[in-house]
Amino acid sequence: MRSEKVDSKLSASKMEAASLCPAYFQANKQFTWQGNKDSANEGTIRHDNEENQVPLDDIENDERRLCAFRCRVAIKECREKVFGVDVDRCVVAREARYWYDESWSGQLDYMERLGETVFIADYKTLHGSHTPAPDNVQLLAQAILVIKNHEDVENVYAALIEPFNNPTYTTVKYSKEFLEKKAEWLEEVVAKSYASDPERIFGSKQCKWCSALYVCPTARSHLFSCLNNK
Ligand code: SF4
Repeated sequence: MRSEKVDSKLSASKMEAASLCPAYFQANKQFTWQGNKDSANEGTIRHDNEENQVPLDDIENDERRLCAFRCRVAIKECREKVFGVDVDRCVVAREARYWYDESWSGQLDYMERLGETVFIADYKTLHGSHTPAPDNVQLLAQAILVIKNHEDVENVYAALIEPFNNPTYTTVKYSKEFLEKKAEWLEEVVAKSYASDPERIFGSKQCKWCSALYVCPTARSHLFSCLNNK
């Protein structure tokens, strides 16, 4: 169960939508999701399997077991590429939550550290495609949280793990300098999201999962303009 404090602030997982529509955060606080929650619930079960490293033989559902198997193969490959022969000396944390001051937070599915180097991974355990790691704002936000909370980290390697996609993972490497610049951009995104009467900007990526879609005047006028152009 997420705390009230977490729910009252932006999170890394919402940062891409917030960067595309400043009203997204407040709209989702004001309106509740009207659609089906089955997919979200299934995703939670699959994340729990990875958080707790449930043995594959104990996962009865075939697709969940395949998901866990592919996630673990992907993590193994990535961490060996990042840490090489030192892989067994690293410290692993799962589902650690970090804050950017008191402004916003993010929960990292997987984080592993050795000295100045950190590897993080985010699981997308359902079917469907996601923005690959090099352009993924959620991963970027998570990496920013790492350097914000660990000042001695110099490089963050990140992987987006999609067990039902091809390839099953994409990766990116961020330098501390790059992340510090991007942190300033995210501060602007957050400030716009928390401002009064934030701008609404329509777009399929952000509107698709917005709880206010059914009442949003900007979405409605966009829909009507599409219909009128037919
Ligand atoms: S429906 Fe789209 S335009 Fe309207 S608030 Fe939500 S994300 Fe913004």
